[in-house]
Amino acid sequence: MLTLTSFADLRAARRSLTGSLGLVPTMGYLHRGHLSLVERARAENAHVAVSIFVNPTQFGPNEDLSRYPRDLTHDLELLAGYHVDLVWAPTPEELYPAGFQTWVSVEQVSAPLEGKQRPGHFRGVATVVAKLFNAFTPDRAYFGQKDAQQVVVIRRLARDLNFPLEIVTCPIVREPDGLALSSRNVYLNAEERQAATVLSRALRAAEAAFAAGERDADVLRAMVGSALAQEPLAREEYVSAADPETLAELETVGPGGALLSLAVRVGKTRLIDNVVLGAP
Ligand code: AMP
Repeated sequence: MLTLTSFADLRAARRSLTGSLGLVPTMGYLHRGHLSLVERARAENAHVAVSIFVNPTQFGPNEDLSRYPRDLTHDLELLAGYHVDLVWAPTPEELYPAGFQTWVSVEQVSAPLEGKQRPGHFRGVATVVAKLFNAFTPDRAYFGQKDAQQVVVIRRLARDLNFPLEIVTCPIVREPDGLALSSRNVYLNAEERQAATVLSRALRAAEAAFAAGERDADVLRAMVGSALAQEPLAREEYVSAADPETLAELETVGPGGALLSLAVRVGKTRLIDNVVLGAP
């Protein structure tokens, strides 16, 4: 497994790979969610590359960039067990040298939900992902449904900028009690960790109502909201039932289904989760 940090070394290594390449972009502090993407990439490609980069431009000024968990040594140990060809772990200066001023903005689908709560977040994501796509020229890139809006933004980015690759979305990996795996779960103390199960519980309640025939989006959003309200340590940021492609809020869940998503603070930790209703 080659571990590289510069664009120059990455390009040289990329040129030596023949056969298809699957790319798994991450911010590191890897868990089973990330590793499920690596496994999928391994199954579908001749070669697998993983990038590990805590991208500063997708963090707001009051967010957790400086304390975001990092453990490159452990990440490399984990990846060694997955037959990964190439790991790229650049410095911020390598990606954003002095004078950097070119940004990629995916407009409409970046605006609501996470984009509204985290202004500039998706501009940072789209810019770094475009740079990764240029540097790796992968045949396929793997993203988790955990970050559902990110997938919508990146699919749009790939289409609009003609990146000749396939975007593959992988299912959310959860703890046995339903909590979606996230590098940020490490911020939770024992009490908060217990309280955080309310996210998936709230989504499951609405999912059950949908399965029983409920199609009124206000009713589904309200069910999620009232389930969240029962947990004193949880503070809702948003609950959304939106069109899975445009991310516009729905009145009624139609044949296109709905992306039911939420962002919640548990203590100081911001958590997100989602479920797709009526997945096509
Ligand atoms: P991150 O390191 O948080 O930027 O995540 C890197 C990739 O892993 C993104 O495509 C995430 O959506 C994906 N990912 C993170 N957590 C999970 C999870 N619990 N299940 C599936 N994919 C995940």
